[in-house]
Amino acid sequence: MQAPSLGGVSVPRGNGQTVVRLRQGASLNDFADKIDANPASLVTVLFHLGEMATATQSLDEATFGVLGEELGYKIEMVSAEEEDRELLGSFAIDLDAELEAESDEDLAPRPPVVTVMGHVDHGKTKLLDAIRSTDVVAGEAGGITQHIGAYQVRAEHEGLERAITFIDTPGHEAFTAMRARGAQVTDIAILVVAADDGVMPQTIEALNHAQAANVPIVVAVNKVDKEGANPDKIRQQLTEYNLVAEEYGGDTMFVNVSAKQRMGIDQLLEAVLLTADAALDLRANPDKDARGVAIEANLDRGRGAVATVLVQSGTLHVGDAIVAGTAHGRVRAMFDEHGEAVDAAEPARPVQVLGLSSVPSAGDTFLVAPDERTARQIAEKREAAERAALLAKRRKRISLEDFTKALEQGKVETLNLVIKGDVSGAVEALEDALYKIDVGDEVRLNVIHRGVGAVTQNDVNLATVDNAVIIGFNVKFGERVEDLADREGVEVKFYSVIYQAIEDVEAALKGMLKPEYEEVQLGTAEIRQVFRSSKFGNIAGSIIRSGTIRRNTSARVLRNGTVVGDNLTIESLRREKDDVTEVREGFECGIGLGSFNDITEGDIIATFEMREKPRV
Ligand code: GDP
Repeated sequence: MQAPSLGGVSVPRGNGQTVVRLRQGASLNDFADKIDANPASLVTVLFHLGEMATATQSLDEATFGVLGEELGYKIEMVSAEEEDRELLGSFAIDLDAELEAESDEDLAPRPPVVTVMGHVDHGKTKLLDAIRSTDVVAGEAGGITQHIGAYQVRAEHEGLERAITFIDTPGHEAFTAMRARGAQVTDIAILVVAADDGVMPQTIEALNHAQAANVPIVVAVNKVDKEGANPDKIRQQLTEYNLVAEEYGGDTMFVNVSAKQRMGIDQLLEAVLLTADAALDLRANPDKDARGVAIEANLDRGRGAVATVLVQSGTLHVGDAIVAGTAHGRVRAMFDEHGEAVDAAEPARPVQVLGLSSVPSAGDTFLVAPDERTARQIAEKREAAERAALLAKRRKRISLEDFTKALEQGKVETLNLVIKGDVSGAVEALEDALYKIDVGDEVRLNVIHRGVGAVTQNDVNLATVDNAVIIGFNVKFGERVEDLADREGVEVKFYSVIYQAIEDVEAALKGMLKPEYEEVQLGTAEIRQVFRSSKFGNIAGSIIRSGTIRRNTSARVLRNGTVVGDNLTIESLRREKDDVTEVREGFECGIGLGSFNDITEGDIIATFEMREKPRV
């Protein structure tokens, strides 16, 4: 039905009951799409309703409500996930719900997925090379010849041949980047520490990342072949970071290795399997449509978009329609790390996938859709949502200024900080000073990461994950980092004077504190005479002894120093015959306490209010 509307434009109208479901963050364009209208005409209608908006601007529920009402539509806002689910019909997209619905029989053991982390030059790359070459079946298959971003090796463990999947990009940047995108890929982290060098800043950084993600750690003490190597010192150093070796009574496995001489690699793989079996329940259902994470992707001139995906549950088949991030398509072919074609990939299996429309980002999730059309629709929705989210994000993340609000809404109790400084002494001094700020028990300060040097992408990613503010002392942004921080809405504050940083953080923390209230007495009145009124109840003819008595304030009645009536309100207050709002010390008045009638001569009426206690 076309009908003239406000502003003289023509918009298809609903009948008042027509329901239109819109995704959170939708724009007039989206609305126009749903009702088959011209977006420009919706802009006009909205304008005549007193709101200015562009067709692509993301609008809130209230605005859509007003517009919907005008046009005869009932607007229902749905979350992105809900909309995805609707698109997919019975196909569940809610992974948690899906996993919950799975019974023990559906689940089969899957290999652990391992990331190698550690300080630069401690041998991560060399170790990954060494592990690759130990694969017991690699020989037959011609070895791992392709770099696809991840590989699987097989190791003997308690007489059984077991697979382990390694993410082939060493370093914690990849790890954090994926985590920042919400993808938890790694089950176990191997922390490489060179025995001739010891625990270094990035060792600690890696350790922080793994611990923050709750990922168990196996320590590879590397370069034990070198002169001056002191593997025991590493064990000792790491106890300071809650990594206590088994031989010292802890539960972390330390293995001495030489990546160069390929020594200790079997023991390391064994330790990974032992840790996996002890600490994790690694199972997944292979008998369903696959989902997982993109690990690496690039555009190949001959083959188009090539993405390495790690299947996390289900089985991926050639021919499946898939969505990876905002890329979509049909799996044309799959290859493994030996360069061989694969028809099906089970959980924890990394494969290179050909056939996507575009290149997904590392950390993007992928899933199989019922058909290509649905895959495309989901990808398009994701893209639109991503754009809207980008705008919303800027406002969403925490800044030193908006803690109070976040706290009031119960969203934060901990102020997470990342501290970067020009020299380690300054970082330590700042951290110490910040921890010394006394704000009581309700709010905590938590330095999740500290380091020397410019603010890096990694810092921003970490701040994104843990909703932290970055404090930079005498440092700047690294290359392209400012953009990232801006995009992710992470607050980065730079200082060159320590006490200013302390002052800001202290103010933020105090703002974060929940207000405390105390009772403040406002006034007292002594009852001289009680007037009984059938209409108003008993009226206390009183004289104000101290302060001021105000109408509508809280009151209690005291007799000989004991409370005889509490939680009362000054319901009426009169001077002579006039209703008044307040009466001051020394004056007489009539006070009505509502239905509370138990008053007699000589009683004291005290009024008070709750006031926020200032912080000292
Ligand atoms: P990454 O930066 O952590 O990836 O470190 P690399 O794997 O690139 O190794 C850094 C350097 O240490 C290279 O020159 C390696 O040859 C050397 N290296 C790695 N592992 C060992 C080892 O077990 N023993 C000795 N002697 N040198 C090693």
